[in-house]
Amino acid sequence: MPSTVALLSIALMSCVMSAAVLGSLLRADVRGVARWCTAYGIFSVGIVLILASSRVSPWLGVAFSHGLFLVASFAILQGAREFFGRPKAMVSEYAAVIGVYAVLLYFSYVKPNLDASVAVSSGYFAYVRGAVGWTVLRHRPRQRPAYSYYFLAIASFVGTALHIARSAAYGLGFDHQAAFLDPSPLNIAFLGLGILSFPFMSIGMVMLAHDRLAERMERLATVDELTGALIRRAFMERAAAAVTTAQAHGAPVALAILDLDNFKAVNDHYGHAAGDCALEHFASTVLQTLRPGDLFGRLGGEEFAILFPATREAEALQLTNGLRMAIAARPCGQTPYTFSAGVDEFGPGEKLARVLARADAALYTAKALGRDCVVMASSHGESDEQLAQPG
Ligand code: GH3
Ligand code: MG
Ligand code: MG
Repeated sequence: MPSTVALLSIALMSCVMSAAVLGSLLRADVRGVARWCTAYGIFSVGIVLILASSRVSPWLGVAFSHGLFLVASFAILQGAREFFGRPKAMVSEYAAVIGVYAVLLYFSYVKPNLDASVAVSSGYFAYVRGAVGWTVLRHRPRQRPAYSYYFLAIASFVGTALHIARSAAYGLGFDHQAAFLDPSPLNIAFLGLGILSFPFMSIGMVMLAHDRLAERMERLATVDELTGALIRRAFMERAAAAVTTAQAHGAPVALAILDLDNFKAVNDHYGHAAGDCALEHFASTVLQTLRPGDLFGRLGGEEFAILFPATREAEALQLTNGLRMAIAARPCGQTPYTFSAGVDEFGPGEKLARVLARADAALYTAKALGRDCVVMASSHGESDEQLAQPG
């Protein structure tokens, strides 16, 4: 058996396995994965046709498999863009796929020239691989571990380099292909390396899909679905860590507890769905107003907390009051609501629970003062409020 046939058989097994592994992730419904899985399926059919080309008609064996490889490669790029929520392709790229296919048919049947055909198809594959690598690097989510993204990008760029070299070798006449499965040393080297890049690419895709799933799980475990605020446990953990870091650097930290006013009455009057809407409105206003590094958590029901690192209590009072005014300026449609808040600052070495209790006492004072206001507690805990800003 010529070694090229052996290599293609290995490529076939690798593509079938890649399709199977990507197929196992289909139920997770990660964007792009279905397209990647289909692409490996199409590659597999294309390779079977190449292997069978001596037994089937040349049209089926060569012309059809060329078309399948072009489409499968393009589907990998589309899948990558889909994964990152980008437009799948440009019109010029669709035109290029058709153009390249026409050129391949021309060099296969009108003016047979295998070297030119290899040079053109490798040029196309180099572009597609390069575009995949570029997409992954450009749209990599910065807050996620970078490893899997670099893995796929490097696998793509190695493929690009390989195809450029192959295109140049045959386009510039360094080697000559007498037949498609010609076992020349250079052809075997290119085929071997090209075949290795198949599983590397698919492993990279599987890693990306897993990272997306991990991100989903982490989000579910830390973020409140209705409001997008951190759930209580995640807020407490992250706030405690931020306080420890700030205290180690001698930086101030302030905390606010915010509670929507008469929310039971809001629900009773406008309905529970309108109440949910008000909660969403409140949280989205807060999230738009927060500075990078501020932490926003839902402590429970209609009670929230904000941790302001590198902030003194007077500034935290101003920020919280600004939020109160922002909500008054842009109310929630048909469901008007207000909130009251208590603000306090961490003393040296003070723990979160202690400051939370003092801010809560200040919140209680704000409610007693008539609601719709922000009250600053004493940072030493002796007296309840220092300053109130009534609505
Ligand atoms: P106060 O101004 O003293 O805070 O009065 P309040 O009515 O807001 O306080 P209370 O604790 O009596 O009631 C809180 C209400 O918040 C009751 C509960 O139904 C409502 N609530 C808590 N979580 C949600 C939620 O997720 N959606 C909706 N719509 N309402 C909620
Ligand atoms: Mg309330
Ligand atoms: Mg409450």
